[in-house]
Amino acid sequence: MNSVTVRVPAKVNLQLAVGPLRDDGYHDLVNVFHAVSIFDEVTATAETGMSVRVEGESADQVPEDADNLAIQAALALARHAGRSYGVSLVIRKAIPVAGGMAGGSADAAAALVACNELWGLGLPVEDLMEIAADLGSDVPFALLGGTAVGTGRGERLTPLEVGGRFHWVFALADGGLSTARVYAECDRMREATGEEIVWPRAADPLLAALRRGDAKALGSELANDLQPAAVMLRRSLARTLEAGREQGAVGTLVSGSGPTCAFLAESETHADELALSLKGAGVARDVITAYGPVPGPTVV
Ligand code: ATP
Repeated sequence: MNSVTVRVPAKVNLQLAVGPLRDDGYHDLVNVFHAVSIFDEVTATAETGMSVRVEGESADQVPEDADNLAIQAALALARHAGRSYGVSLVIRKAIPVAGGMAGGSADAAAALVACNELWGLGLPVEDLMEIAADLGSDVPFALLGGTAVGTGRGERLTPLEVGGRFHWVFALADGGLSTARVYAECDRMREATGEEIVWPRAADPLLAALRRGDAKALGSELANDLQPAAVMLRRSLARTLEAGREQGAVGTLVSGSGPTCAFLAESETHADELALSLKGAGVARDVITAYGPVPGPTVV
């Protein structure tokens, strides 16, 4: 086999509960991850060295060197296998860059799956999961897909049962937000207000709404502890979220560390209508529809 292409979805956090800051600089989190139908594609081709090229949505903001998470994933996999493999990776991006939708983590997960196949390693998903956890907190979920609760830094995953398909509208912003900056702002705001930080846990009503496939109930349970910090750093998000509420979204929230905003609709038709009104409101660089949950990385 000379070339393998893997399609990998973005994620939105349905609940992101941020616990106290730990000694190692991370926060204990409860993350309800949900994979949605916005896909990057990673093609791995046999080569002697390692290289990466990025095309598509905001490609100019993605490094094409050893800082690229997909290359880091390929290197980690080769190290795990104890061999010096080579690969040329081409990433076609549709997931907004630094948009709070874990595009970099998705590319890393796709590169693990693609190189495992290309190099004929046949490693089980458990091994890939271990490598993924070392690459970043969001990479294990990117490998799993579907809908799942993540605890710890987000890397300990329990898949969830979902009783239907949910329809989403995403408002993409100009430019990204650094995840590290958003966490730092969250800590700063909590310290300034003396807010009591409770131990995070997944909300039972949210899990029940997912099981029933009940969009209205899910919409009222969406929660993101990073949202106030993201809005503080990017004031225009307040208007974007308000526009979604005004236009009849059943749920609104900032996706992960932002600045992408996510709006839950009642049906596919409702999502199309909502997307049209949000485009008209001029509160986003672009507005796209998607559905979830979708499976993780898939060889195409
Ligand atoms: P998260 O939701 O996991 O916090 P994000 O969606 O906000 O992440 P990413 O798109 O994953 O952010 O990118 C964050 C940064 O990582 C970018 O600014 C970019 O410079 C760098 N990066 C490295 N590799 C990639 C990649 N393959 N795709 C996108 N960004 C990458």
